[in-house]
Amino acid sequence: MKNAKLWIIVAAVIFIAAIVWCVIIITKPPGEIVTISQDGETLYTLDLSEESDRTITVEYEGRENVIEIKDGRIHMLEADCPDHTCINTGWLEDLPIVCLPNKLVIEFADESGADAVAR
Ligand SMILES: [Zn+2]
Repeated sequence: MKNAKLWIIVAAVIFIAAIVWCVIIITKPPGEIVTISQDGETLYTLDLSEESDRTITVEYEGRENVIEIKDGRIHMLEADCPDHTCINTGWLEDLPIVCLPNKLVIEFADESGADAVAR
């Protein structure tokens, strides 16, 4: 009988853990997952809520883009492109940060799209 009780407790713990895990995933605020892609290829997938402050340098045909992550936000710090539209966009919000000359795009991941790929 003792054994049976133990298994019920183990099953209950797993069950509760699974529910908690689901709740964490479902309630995770959207707009924290950011992708950095170049020429249609994803270079980085970042969870801004877990990233510490740092910079990422991406090169394209000898030109460099420096992306900065600070306080859970992301923006283009420096860029070798002629127009600097990407820098002027500022911090990433609703609109993606695009550097056309360097084919670089920083945007929030489409979570439903990411799910579709995972399946
Ligand atoms: Zn640019």
